[in-house]
Amino acid sequence: MENIIEVLKKAIGENNVIENEPMSKHTTFRIGGNADIFVTPQSTEDIENVIKIAEKTNTPYYIIGNGSNLLVKDNGIRGIVIQIYKKYSDITVNGNEITVQSGALLSTVAKKAMENSLTGFEFASGIPGTIGGAVCMNAGAYGGGSRDGFFFFYDFFNSKRILVVYQHTGFV
Ligand SMILES: Cc1cc2nc3c(=O)[nH]c(=O)nc-3n(C[C@H](O)[C@H](O)[C@H](O)COP(=O)(O)OP(=O)(O)OC[C@H]3O[C@@H](n4cnc5c(N)ncnc54)[C@H](O)[C@@H]3O)c2cc1C
Repeated sequence: MENIIEVLKKAIGENNVIENEPMSKHTTFRIGGNADIFVTPQSTEDIENVIKIAEKTNTPYYIIGNGSNLLVKDNGIRGIVIQIYKKYSDITVNGNEITVQSGALLSTVAKKAMENSLTGFEFASGIPGTIGGAVCMNAGAYGGGSRDGFFFFYDFFNSKRILVVYQHTGFV
């Protein structure tokens, strides 16, 4: 375990790797024991590197976002928890197009859409999760949902960029 921690620190920076981190600090319900290793990647390259290291060393890994849909058991999580949240949350608006990193909060993206007069994402403004969590959980509210389409997302497992058109709004 010590060796893999050093490898991770070298790959994504010392400040982004924590050993024995209480998951109660990262779940909305404030429950859960320690994760063996907790990492907070800051870039696409960081995320790919962590996954490559985990796979090469046969270390289990689990991705989380804002932890709003997680109940973690008292004895924690073995392996690496990859938190994709604040450090990977850029939002860029270009005309009718919003590009987000998957750690951005739905509420922040909804606010950004409103500020730029883009409609269709209002349903997400009160859901306390990240874009990545919403795609995974098919989050929805008030009759709107992730199933209606997202912008694009990056498939870290296959290194593929996937474009999804938002169907009935100003998003393209
Ligand atoms: C008070 C409250 C209100 C809620 N209201 C709603 C609601 O109105 N509608 C609704 O649909 N849900 C609601 N939820 C549930 C929750 O907010 C959603 O499921 C949300 O989409 C979870 O996002 P998260 O970032 O917190 O994901 P997490 O809880 O961290 O993770 C949830 C799942 O997504 C996966 N995941 C997270 N990020 C990524 C990523 N980047 N890549 C791959 N997988 C990822 C995790 O592995 C996990 O399986 C609510 C929860 C709370 C606590």
